[in-house]
Amino acid sequence: MLSENVFCRERIIMLGTLLFALIALNSDISFSSPCPECFVLLYPDRDSSSGFTDYRCGNLSYDGHTGTDFAVADEAKMRSGVTVRAAAPGRVLRIRDGVPDRKVSDLNQVKGQECGNGLVIDHGRGWESQYCHLRQNSVTVRPGQQVDRGTPVGLVGQSGAASFPHVHFEVRHQGKTIDPNGGIPLNNSCSTNKTALWQQPIAYIPTALIHSGFSPQVPTMAEVEAGKWHNYQIKATDPSLIFWTRSYGVKAGDRVTMTMVNPDREQVVDYKNTLTKDNRIFFIYTGSRKVVPGTWTVTFQLDRGNQKLIDISQTILVK
Ligand SMILES: [Zn+2]
Repeated sequence: MLSENVFCRERIIMLGTLLFALIALNSDISFSSPCPECFVLLYPDRDSSSGFTDYRCGNLSYDGHTGTDFAVADEAKMRSGVTVRAAAPGRVLRIRDGVPDRKVSDLNQVKGQECGNGLVIDHGRGWESQYCHLRQNSVTVRPGQQVDRGTPVGLVGQSGAASFPHVHFEVRHQGKTIDPNGGIPLNNSCSTNKTALWQQPIAYIPTALIHSGFSPQVPTMAEVEAGKWHNYQIKATDPSLIFWTRSYGVKAGDRVTMTMVNPDREQVVDYKNTLTKDNRIFFIYTGSRKVVPGTWTVTFQLDRGNQKLIDISQTILVK
């Protein structure tokens, strides 16, 4: 059995003395990214109240989250096969496979199998790492098998209690969940200055574009998540030319700008808006109902204060 603590877990009360012990222990283990091709969408929750915070005092977490979620942009990327790797040398303790990949709306559907397909690796000296939500029938290791740092163990999936394709990576020491980004057990603290357990630093990127693309009709968020409009090429016979973007970590007060210029150099979209609420995932699209052949230019910008957090410009040739 894998530990089914992915969605909720008992709070950990930390003693000051334990903190000293763990600072000393930090040097005896280091982890590599379990998914170098992924981006980090959610961190462990370091707030023991009903609120949540990530290790940098940001909002890339949710209440009770115990792992670091390494995500891919959409199900099309997941279907292409994204490798999950052992984060440190060790011995595989247990695995699960055969759970279908699907977006779960009701957690009762996966009761007892919240982790989905996954595995636990014993790294010795009380350290363990767990990998959840792997793709159905992708786990390539067996209990008892020795793995090295970087050994492929499966593929990124969406099994168990997962609402997007990712690998939930969780670290434990002597049975207690540790935040590898902060290096100490989950507790009531966050700080911008923490010792991480990563062998190579993993950049903290609070806001970023996940992906963008085009569609011939108004896209739904579900279609975009499923990868339906991944790399769609607009044709002159299409009923509309829609440009869509999906970003994470978007906050109230952020300013969004989208523009579209047609092949005749006419600006057909000039959209500006200041957001009134935080959006963990921010999906927006704009477009033209008149599609003509030639080169179109689209832009998407997200500004916060005087920082330009996202700034993309794309041209497409419509035939
Ligand atoms: Zn997770």
